[in-house]
Amino acid sequence: MTKWVYSFSAGRSEGSAAMRELLGGKGANLAEMAALGLPVPPGFTITTDVCAFFYANGHSFPPNLEAQVDAAMAEIGRVAGHAFNDAKWPLLVSVRSGARASMPGMMDTVLNLGLNDQTVEALSHYSGDARFAWDCYRRFIEMYSSVVLGVEHHIFEEALDELKEAKGYTLDTQLSADDWRAATGQFKGIVEANAGVSFPQDPRAQLWGAIRAVFSSWMNHRAIVYRHLHNIPESWGTAVNVQAMVFGNMDANSATGVAFTRNPSTGVKELYGEYLMNAQGEDVVAGLRTPQPLTEIASRASPGEKISLEAAMPKVFAEFVQVADRLERHYRDMQDMEFTVERGKLWMLQTRGGKRTARAALKLAVDMANEGLITREEAILRVEPTSLDQLLHPTIDPSARRDILVTGLPASPGAAFGEIVFNPEEAETLAASGRKVILVRTETSPEDIHGMHAAEGILTARGGMTSHAAVVARGMGKPCVTGAGALRIDYDEQCFTVAGRRFVKGDRITIDGSAGHVIAGEVKMQRPELTGEFAVLMGWADDVRRLKVRANAETPSDARAARRFGAEGIGLARTEHMFFEGERIVAVREMILADDAEGRRTALAKLLPMQREDFKHLFEIMAGLPVTIRLLDPPLHEFLPHTDSELAAVARAMGADPVKLRRRALQLSEFNPMLGFRGVRLAVVFPEILDMQARAIFEAAIEAGLSTGAAAQIEIMAPLVFARAELDFVKARVEAMAALVEDETGVRPAYHIGTMIELPRAALRAGEIAPSANFFSFGTNDLTQTTLGISRDDSGSFLGVYVEKGVLPQDPFVSIDQEGVGELVALGCQRARAGRPDIVLGVCGEHGGDPASVAFFEKIGMDYVSCSPFRVPIARLAAAQAALGGTAEGTA
Ligand code: ADP
Ligand code: MG
Ligand code: MG
Repeated sequence: MTKWVYSFSAGRSEGSAAMRELLGGKGANLAEMAALGLPVPPGFTITTDVCAFFYANGHSFPPNLEAQVDAAMAEIGRVAGHAFNDAKWPLLVSVRSGARASMPGMMDTVLNLGLNDQTVEALSHYSGDARFAWDCYRRFIEMYSSVVLGVEHHIFEEALDELKEAKGYTLDTQLSADDWRAATGQFKGIVEANAGVSFPQDPRAQLWGAIRAVFSSWMNHRAIVYRHLHNIPESWGTAVNVQAMVFGNMDANSATGVAFTRNPSTGVKELYGEYLMNAQGEDVVAGLRTPQPLTEIASRASPGEKISLEAAMPKVFAEFVQVADRLERHYRDMQDMEFTVERGKLWMLQTRGGKRTARAALKLAVDMANEGLITREEAILRVEPTSLDQLLHPTIDPSARRDILVTGLPASPGAAFGEIVFNPEEAETLAASGRKVILVRTETSPEDIHGMHAAEGILTARGGMTSHAAVVARGMGKPCVTGAGALRIDYDEQCFTVAGRRFVKGDRITIDGSAGHVIAGEVKMQRPELTGEFAVLMGWADDVRRLKVRANAETPSDARAARRFGAEGIGLARTEHMFFEGERIVAVREMILADDAEGRRTALAKLLPMQREDFKHLFEIMAGLPVTIRLLDPPLHEFLPHTDSELAAVARAMGADPVKLRRRALQLSEFNPMLGFRGVRLAVVFPEILDMQARAIFEAAIEAGLSTGAAAQIEIMAPLVFARAELDFVKARVEAMAALVEDETGVRPAYHIGTMIELPRAALRAGEIAPSANFFSFGTNDLTQTTLGISRDDSGSFLGVYVEKGVLPQDPFVSIDQEGVGELVALGCQRARAGRPDIVLGVCGEHGGDPASVAFFEKIGMDYVSCSPFRVPIARLAAAQAALGGTAEGTA
């Protein structure tokens, strides 16, 4: 018989942390904590297999599930010492979802299940606090009805507001037991009016309703969006956790809180979190009351009247510190925990690997390795390579003047600037049209995720460091300021006021998520520091990686950035990127439109010194590291003059007839330039261009060698080759130019020659081409275009839909299509090595900076990857992880 249900209670449990796939993250960790003997309220987990069964069988449950749930409920009753409907002390439970990967706030939890018109009286009697009992009951009706019966939350909230207004109250705490009893009556009426059923009184019916709702919520909109954003497969399903309630809202000696074993924003080793006295569950993260700090140090560090848990409940605090420490050592990772104190007794309700900023992830990994908690290899695997991106981006220049409007909580680090928007849909629309926006909300909820994703940064008026906005922003790596209490937001007027100033939609602000500042206008930003833990972890990564990492760069500033980020050379310098600058374009057009070789030479003579300068800078900056220079590649078509005045300028420079020139331009225009007169074809047809470029390269290398004292490592690369004869043609011309330069200067330039492999035929014929080449560089962008027959620039209208509908698992221009394009690359490598064993093999497409692609290139034994300068650190870390045979562990 299949086991669908796993029980746990302090000191005893049927599950463990290793069973996360079956029990979900929350269930597996509850089981683990219970097994460790930590104070966990008794409960059980219904497996993710039941979720799969539920969706495969028309929303029905396995036949023997009911009996197993009954048995597990009886077990809770035995441990807790009471049962559903107990006349003296009724058992209440929570019903919580828990997927394999953490999906915070994505699915709804029902608390206080088991309350009804009788048990509320019993609870009132047992606790000696009628107000508490009726507050629990009305919360339960509200939660259950919105999650299970589909009654909208705000209807209850509005009824409550009316009740408060009628009584002249402003705070929930002013409501008496009788008030809550009255509210409960009203709430039941709301349920009947809106759901067409009366509120279920039978706890068993309540339980099954909630279980069904949790499984159903796996397919709700929020959950689907979250899964899409985080690549969580739909097939995983969620588990359901049922657990005896403990009450943080029972009295002044009760509390509830959340904590991290280290600071998830900075990584500093300090207990970090918040709690609320006399409160239940989500009160801490809901942002309705301002939570208090856990520790005395944190309490003193922030302004205002605060009572830390350490001061308020020293014994509980000491026990909690021990539990937290034990959990971190046990899991060997920073933990994110939920706890509740009921009448002075500590209960643990959840633990999981804490979400962290990139900065914190780095510090945690390095610190934990230094503390001996994990190995250096584990440290390397702990940091998600793409998250490094967050660290490579700007922060506010410390010398910049800040016109600070308000200081909130520094909820997620980094700085962002943009136009104010107040709703997530608008954030999405504006961002899609290329505008930078800051999403400003009173507080955020899971429905806002798409807008948060689109925004540069997030600002909320309410909420603490663990509010929804803060947690989600940190996960996304977006700057975020929460709890900017002085901000008065008016959604209707689309404006906010603060310190007597009014800002409307579209006004510009900057937020500093590291300091909590909200600043008027745009503030000067600065480049990131690449020292400290960043440098340490990168050093460790460099020690283990096999793949070399180069950068694609042609401007001096990109080349310098590349070196700062640790590039080991330039893997692709696109010579023509400088052709559009200033006066150059006229000379380029002159060259293209010339009638004969002589005319081309005249124009090329003007370009020679410019190209030489460009290359000299690159060689100097790279000081002896390899520099791969690609010969002219783009279709001539791209350089043709478009307007009459452009044509006239070229005619003047050439002393030519504009009419004749226009005719020539028409001849050269193409229907499909991508497959037209471009790449090595230009060199074959107009070898003068190749001669000029080769000369510029050699002369630049000689000059740079003199100025830096390091011999330039020249690599000349022919683009778009499909046959050996093309490369041989280029090779002969380059060799002749080298000889000529030697005659003129007395210096023999040393160089390597190679080709890009970016056409399927080139990959197939790699074995034949290889003997003519010192190196191959796989141009995976063009190879993807030519293999899939998709022009990247024209793919916008369908590629997104392809990914959405699952035709393609992901955008093949972002992560290499391993089965198709990847197979060509692998085959090309294999044949190249067979044709020339010492050939150097690299990749220079965007894929060189994509961790999944890098892992693939490691697997097929490539020698190096080359990517844009900002992705170099990502590639270095990804290459190290690939060498270790792993990828970043989920921190969920
Ligand atoms: P989430 O995934 O959003 O964190 P949880 O299932 O962890 O949702 O629960 C929501 C809130 O209810 C949390 O604050 C949690 O601590 C609290 N909670 C859950 N189960 C219990 C329980 N048995 N007793 C008291 N509080 C609980
Ligand atoms: Mg939780
Ligand atoms: Mg190309």
